[in-house]
Amino acid sequence: MIVGIDLGTTNSLVGVVDSGFPILLADSDGRRLLPSVVHWPSAEGAPTRTGLPARRLLALDPAHTIASVKRFMGRRLAEVDPATRGDHPLAIGPDGFVRIGLGDALLTPEAISAEILKQLKRTAETALETTVDRAVITVPAYFNDAQRQATKRAGELAGFTVERILAEPTAAALAYGLDKLAESSRVAVYDLGGGTFDISVLELNKGVFQVIATSGDTRLGGDDLDRAIVDWMEARLQLTDPGLVRARLLEAARDAKEALSEREEVEILLPFLQGATSHQLTLTQAEFETLALPLVRRTRTHCLRALSDAGITDPASELNAVILVGGSTRIPLVRRFVAELFGKEPDISQHPDEAVALGATIQAGMLSGALRDLVLLDVTPLSLGIETFGGLMNVIIPRNTTIPAKAGELFTNAVANQPSMLIRVLQGERELAKDNWDLGQFTIDFEPGPKGSARVGVQFEIDANGILRILARDTRTNTDRVLEIASAAVNVEDEAVERMISESVDHAFEDMNERIWTEAKLKSDELLPAVDAAFALVGDELDPAEKDTITNAAAEVRAALSAHPHDAQRLKRANQALDEATESLAAMLVERAYARALAQNSPS
Ligand code: ADP
Ligand code: MG
Repeated sequence: MIVGIDLGTTNSLVGVVDSGFPILLADSDGRRLLPSVVHWPSAEGAPTRTGLPARRLLALDPAHTIASVKRFMGRRLAEVDPATRGDHPLAIGPDGFVRIGLGDALLTPEAISAEILKQLKRTAETALETTVDRAVITVPAYFNDAQRQATKRAGELAGFTVERILAEPTAAALAYGLDKLAESSRVAVYDLGGGTFDISVLELNKGVFQVIATSGDTRLGGDDLDRAIVDWMEARLQLTDPGLVRARLLEAARDAKEALSEREEVEILLPFLQGATSHQLTLTQAEFETLALPLVRRTRTHCLRALSDAGITDPASELNAVILVGGSTRIPLVRRFVAELFGKEPDISQHPDEAVALGATIQAGMLSGALRDLVLLDVTPLSLGIETFGGLMNVIIPRNTTIPAKAGELFTNAVANQPSMLIRVLQGERELAKDNWDLGQFTIDFEPGPKGSARVGVQFEIDANGILRILARDTRTNTDRVLEIASAAVNVEDEAVERMISESVDHAFEDMNERIWTEAKLKSDELLPAVDAAFALVGDELDPAEKDTITNAAAEVRAALSAHPHDAQRLKRANQALDEATESLAAMLVERAYARALAQNSPS
């Protein structure tokens, strides 16, 4: 059994496929949404609290309580946004990543997230009455390697084997149903959560989902609406010390906001707010919309950017669906805004705050075999390979290969008595190694021998999480070297992929010419010294006319080599002519060697 988990900034959920249906699991109070808040106990041995009880402690014991820990996952201190860093002391760990101070404890974000995941694990185990230790966990599409790795580690700390890290918009699209979509279609996922806004455009092609553009704002979400309501409240209440009661006001504001998604107006009751005074305020939907509109409008530019990056000019006709995700998209104003911006009614067939978890659950069911028929595979956005002789790119796994994938090739030494080989791992579409991206390198030693005698097998393997393992093996001695590269092989920014591909197209002609040149030059470097050596050995015995032909052919190779600009075709032709001209010379050498060997071996 594999569970699907949405490890959200504000709320987290867990689900499982049961009797062929994906279902989300509720805790003993019947709640499916677990607030992503953790209270770290000050006393040794006291239990860590998560969810609603922890959320209440945010106001009472702020030093030991943390919300939205997701913003710190896989982050270095310099990468933490000062605007959302919060009030907890931060430090740099020995690995260079952020540590968070909760009371006396200095913790990794993954250790804190693991508490949320442990709680979800308990919820699942109680509901299913069995142990659960495999999970699919979602992350935002823009999460980089470090952030994905941290999420995976959090899962492991909670006692899960993380079977797959899945992009949130992909999960949401899965939840809305692949079956509704045509063979090849495009969807936009508009995700407005508690603290973040994400817009993604996805393409579904032959069962493969790919995120083709993303944009968003990591400082925009439902929390901003809560603050706007608190400001509105404070302007109406004569509070002596608003700072003291801010946490209570925020809670009241959130309740009011959520209620307004269903009703035209709400009463906000604030009993005994300061001393004995109680307050009552009325907020109408129209008033709330005035407060919310400027914030909602800020999503517009991001949507337009993502559409333009995806090459979409008319979303109404070019998008098959606009999917709403995130609790804040329950707000009627947001729905109207999206409908107007995209020129089409958004799909609201799923609960927006549950869609990501549902998609993760569907993916988990597909992996465990509890659900069939659906395929959802990631592909390599760019080719992967190694550098070979003359600085050329040798592709081992081509671009757009579905993962997991495995491929290998056998290499040899270019130079006699070379003691080792440098394996440079490259990513990109260009013919020359130097124009591609360097993912890492290592050397493998082998027994020195004549040129072409070494046998080094290089194998590339990408697992379902996009982690690339490169294994090099000297097949003579069976020595292995392994290099592991985090999900860089699969997670590349769309923009960078596009740039790489368009450059490879722009330079296709020069690049090809350069490859032919390099290969021809390697051949010349082999031929010319061989001809010189043969002349020294048997030159006198050659027919003068033949000798002339060979000398001329060799001169033409040298001329082609030094010609500027490089003419790859000329060098290739010259090599070929020299090869043909030396045919009988080569035969003569072979006979000579043969006769000598015979003479040495014959009894005297
Ligand atoms: P995240 O993806 O950040 O974990 P969610 O998708 O769970 O977050 O969204 C949480 C946000 O949605 C909170 O700001 C919450 O107040 C808001 N929200 C939840 N339900 C409603 C509702 N009915 N109306 C308006 N906002 C809501
Ligand atoms: Mg979310």
